[in-house]
Amino acid sequence: MDFFLEATYPDKHDIELLYETIYDVQGIAVGNRSVAPLLMDSYQLSSRAGIRSIAVDAAVSLFERYGIVRRGGESGLATIQFTTSQDRVKEYAANIAADKQQVLIALLRSVGAGALSAPMMFDVREMLAKHDIAMEQFESAMRTFEYGRIVRYQPPGASGGLTLLLERMPFSRLPIDFPAFYERKERAIRKLDIVERYAVTTDCKRNFILQYFQEDDCRGSCGRCSSCMSTSPKKLPKLDRDGEFLRQAILSVCSETAGRFGVGVITDILIGNKSPKILRYGMYSMKSYGIACDFDADEIAIALRQAQSDSIIEISADHFPTVSMTSLGFAIAKNLHPSFELKQMTIKIDNRFLEKLVHLRSELANIDKLSPETIVSDTALQRIAGTLPMNREELKAITEISDIFLTRYSSHFFAAIKQYIGTDTENDDLKSSDLPPTIKESVRLARQGMSFWQIVETRNIDPGTIAKHLETAIASTLILERETLIGEELYRQVRQYIVHNRRAVLRELREHCGARYQMSELRIALAFARKELNIAVLPKK
Ligand SMILES: [Zn+2]
Repeated sequence: MDFFLEATYPDKHDIELLYETIYDVQGIAVGNRSVAPLLMDSYQLSSRAGIRSIAVDAAVSLFERYGIVRRGGESGLATIQFTTSQDRVKEYAANIAADKQQVLIALLRSVGAGALSAPMMFDVREMLAKHDIAMEQFESAMRTFEYGRIVRYQPPGASGGLTLLLERMPFSRLPIDFPAFYERKERAIRKLDIVERYAVTTDCKRNFILQYFQEDDCRGSCGRCSSCMSTSPKKLPKLDRDGEFLRQAILSVCSETAGRFGVGVITDILIGNKSPKILRYGMYSMKSYGIACDFDADEIAIALRQAQSDSIIEISADHFPTVSMTSLGFAIAKNLHPSFELKQMTIKIDNRFLEKLVHLRSELANIDKLSPETIVSDTALQRIAGTLPMNREELKAITEISDIFLTRYSSHFFAAIKQYIGTDTENDDLKSSDLPPTIKESVRLARQGMSFWQIVETRNIDPGTIAKHLETAIASTLILERETLIGEELYRQVRQYIVHNRRAVLRELREHCGARYQMSELRIALAFARKELNIAVLPKK
């Protein structure tokens, strides 16, 4: 359904591409009108404009609604193909009544011999006027020809072709109400969302429908719907493992993120993943970071949907939906808050970093001639590695720690943590990586904040090669910031396509996106999308 929604409401950019293409193929400049209908179907337009044919149909409908074009229809575009040989047509023509003969000759003159090998379009009214044939005479003749298996005929309206009704103008001056168009899209998304919630809700389905139609009488439950008949009505199949805990964890994260992030980041925080965004915003120091590390992304996704259906969180309906807590959620969270403290927080730890901290502790112990455990316990060290506190307050909040550690040693650890999440660490993993030096150099520049094209320019190497470097790096364990490398719009399109076509290869992506983006840019976007969506690339045979 998402796919069809996207196709029904194409991006403005795609609509513009189609508009320009329609006039470009006819060679009509701004300010001029088209004299002949455009005889291309949506498939041909699609490949010419480089956008999906389903989006072409949607955009043409939009043009039609605002009186910019008219599909075949009244303009009289029909399609014809002769289904027999030229000799047979001649022989046939010699043996029919004069009124039908007249039509057949007019047809042959209008569409020419081309219609003997492929379907041809022609303007019926124009032909009738030119050869002084009545519509009735024409239609009767066409029926006879079809019956005699001489032609295959599609009357006007049934065939493609576009009549361009207005002169060409700059796209921005088109009389199309785009805000209204995309508002319809938002509405459609919201409706779809309601259907989804109806599907997943474990509350009484009848009550859901009553509420939708704003009927107040939904006390009790019907006792007959799938929710009411279910033996464990309050739990979804995968959530029997601590569903209530997840519900609280989600609320806890939402209260800390205050509606600023989307499902992806919320999930990363819950599980305790160290994605670039988490590192950049320092979210590893959040209280609820890693609170649900025992769960996987699928379980979190179900729990988020359930929380949404229970109206304790809200997911906004736009391109980058953000998750926020509702007032009901807030009330529940306030009530439940103490229980969060009880749950033991276990966190995923980067063992390489933990080793570094252990090493640091030994160094400090050597200097002060103490045993390492006196400085800080192994358990505390693990918690530091897992939560990455940046100051004394955070440090005290996560673990039992001695005053002497706080005053004498903690600054060394804060420095190590800053280095770990700062640029230095990022290049540590680069140094230890066994990628070829030339790839590492491209990664190093990317990490300095250069865009893809800046790297190409700086290194003076062709874009294709740089793109392959970055593709390799992205597919490895190295972390690269997507936002600085490639455009958001490009990435959004690629990601969306990959969501629906998980096995798509670069060539298909190129066909989908058309000539707007360079192959090299698409390659990088594809690598990021695959990584984000956990799509493994099969080795070439
Ligand atoms: Zn029910």
